[in-house]
Amino acid sequence: MRSAIPKDVKMSLKVMVNKEKTKVPFAEANSKSAEVILSFLMLPLGEIVRVFEEHYLDKKPVVGSLTPMYRHLTTLRSDYFWTDGGKNMLLNPSNSFMSGPVKHFRCGDMDCKKKSFRNVSIYYDSGTCDCGKPLNRAMGEIEPKPQAGGDGILVEGLHFLVTDDLQLAPYEPGSMMETLVYLGIVVTEGAEQLNVTLGYNEIVDLLKRSLLSKTPLTDVILCVINKNMGYVLEDILLDKIELESTSSKRMTVTALMQKSTNKLLFVKGREDFVDFILSFLTIPLGGVVSLLRGKTCFKGIDNLYKSTSNLIKDKHFITGDAKRRLQEPQLPPYYVSKNQIFSLSEQIVNSIYYYESITDSSDQTIGKGSWMRYKDPKGDQGCYVKPGMFKISDDLTFLKCFFSNSAILSKLKIPPSDVKEMEVQIGLKEGLSILKAALRSTTALADGLVKHITKASVASNSAQSDGLHNKTSNKRPKTKVSP
Ligand SMILES: [Zn+2]
Repeated sequence: MRSAIPKDVKMSLKVMVNKEKTKVPFAEANSKSAEVILSFLMLPLGEIVRVFEEHYLDKKPVVGSLTPMYRHLTTLRSDYFWTDGGKNMLLNPSNSFMSGPVKHFRCGDMDCKKKSFRNVSIYYDSGTCDCGKPLNRAMGEIEPKPQAGGDGILVEGLHFLVTDDLQLAPYEPGSMMETLVYLGIVVTEGAEQLNVTLGYNEIVDLLKRSLLSKTPLTDVILCVINKNMGYVLEDILLDKIELESTSSKRMTVTALMQKSTNKLLFVKGREDFVDFILSFLTIPLGGVVSLLRGKTCFKGIDNLYKSTSNLIKDKHFITGDAKRRLQEPQLPPYYVSKNQIFSLSEQIVNSIYYYESITDSSDQTIGKGSWMRYKDPKGDQGCYVKPGMFKISDDLTFLKCFFSNSAILSKLKIPPSDVKEMEVQIGLKEGLSILKAALRSTTALADGLVKHITKASVASNSAQSDGLHNKTSNKRPKTKVSP
């Protein structure tokens, strides 16, 4: 499996800089450099958070509630999870695109008593043999069916324009001006063209900026320090998500709201709901854009995603599969929990027939074979989190809940008479709301769920869901995100 962003990555661009050296309206890129930007869509959300946590020593960027949830996950005891492997899959989610040989691991015990089952895992030490020992003995590599076009995404030798807000458009030599006009790019007098090579640090910066800024290219290329650090994000238009199909799977949680402030205090839910919110970390960015119908609130990423169907034609992609890997990325094998309510697909592993020849006491060689049985690295239950009752906070952090509601409320110094308890059904629509809020708000549960809890107040505030902002309303303040 290749790493998210290889450390030796290089991207060469010909950038256009305005006369005042304050803006990069566009850059020219070759196929390889365009692929680096497109590959952002294949990064799972948890991997993006992990890269930021590892890369930035101070001023670590906070991606909505995903960063608090991820940091919390690193501190959680293993006994929250069926297996250590499952926890590790959430902390280090693999890139959705597996290339190269796939390693396989079997029982570490050479004298395994459950030999006849021949358990196997494709993740090191993250599955348990039926005998109870870890599957950690390497048994060779299996070459996957070669992909036409290999790891590549785009046909080599093409020319692309990248706009400041990450629209990516191919152009024929000689037709650059037409493409600029088509994209609505105006080049002012005195603009200058410079050759720039971006390395790993700048590419991670570009990824960060593509989530937190409307002008990622300018930010990175000119290292313009945005004086207006932290800016107001657009309103979440949650109710505008049009759903083509409704998933029948639903989860039930209890929301505790404070009556006097109409604030969500916390949510109580079972392992299915916790499993579901944790699974956000495993979804590749392109999959998130697809689930949210192109409206993630990450403008640059939405533009990039749109470019893969509106601007980049089929003939520019190496294969139809390369295009699909960006638009509907599959998760690696065994990543989708049985508690998932989004329609996500995962890669399928090939069946393996294990054959060995044994020489018996009379020097006779006997061949013996059987199908190997893949073990789910998350655990045989097919989900990440062990059963329990959990108290889930606004920023998607959670803990096992051993106390009654009244005990928790007395700790919060809130009289029970000021609290209303409501049962909330979490289906596809509510799940998408929470996902969308988690991308940009550190209070994802309140932002994503409250609208669904208090339907009546949503109706009275309908002006807001139409994008009109009622300044006199006592609506929660807009979330500030520091870049
Ligand atoms: Zn065993």
